[in-house]
Amino acid sequence: MVCAYVALGANLGDAATALRQAVQAMGRLPFTQVRQSSSLYKTAPLDTDSGVEASAPGNDYLNAVVELETGLIAPALLDHLQQIEQQAGRERPYRNAPRTLDLDLLLYGSARMDSEHLTLPHPRMTQRAFVLVPLAEVAPTLVSAGQLAAVAHQPIERLTGASIM
Ligand code: ADP
Ligand code: MG
Repeated sequence: MVCAYVALGANLGDAATALRQAVQAMGRLPFTQVRQSSSLYKTAPLDTDSGVEASAPGNDYLNAVVELETGLIAPALLDHLQQIEQQAGRERPYRNAPRTLDLDLLLYGSARMDSEHLTLPHPRMTQRAFVLVPLAEVAPTLVSAGQLAAVAHQPIERLTGASIM
């Protein structure tokens, strides 16, 4: 079994429900258990390349990170995550478009890979407060103080009392 971390994000429709349903769907994947979940976080939509607030339309995002224990190999896990996105009605009309559900595989054990389909660790995870802050909540040893400091200018709000597990 491998410990894997998945970042969840949604900013269309009932985003909190979409994230809760995604956690439940991950718990139903073969050979997979959800070990823990971060709090829910609220962030403004970002242009994720430049790290500045985007002019693209969209509501605030809800984000979270979950820790999975899985016997699936990494490409199979990503396939399942993409199926869960599809079931949530995900469309990709353009880059960084608003989305009903985004599931990114951040870390799969200590695996490093770079294929067309899958890059590990996720290549943009260290640029994004909405990934690093919830990841640090569930796995504090995996995120350094320097990494958090580098995204500290990106506004993010922890929603207390809102659990997604
Ligand atoms: P983003 O999450 O960056 O906004 P998408 O969700 O549309 O973008 O993902 C684009 C592509 O990234 C997917 O088709 C997927 O194959 C690829 N990809 C590569 N590495 C990963 C990863 N670690 N987690 C999720 N998707 C990945
Ligand atoms: Mg994605």
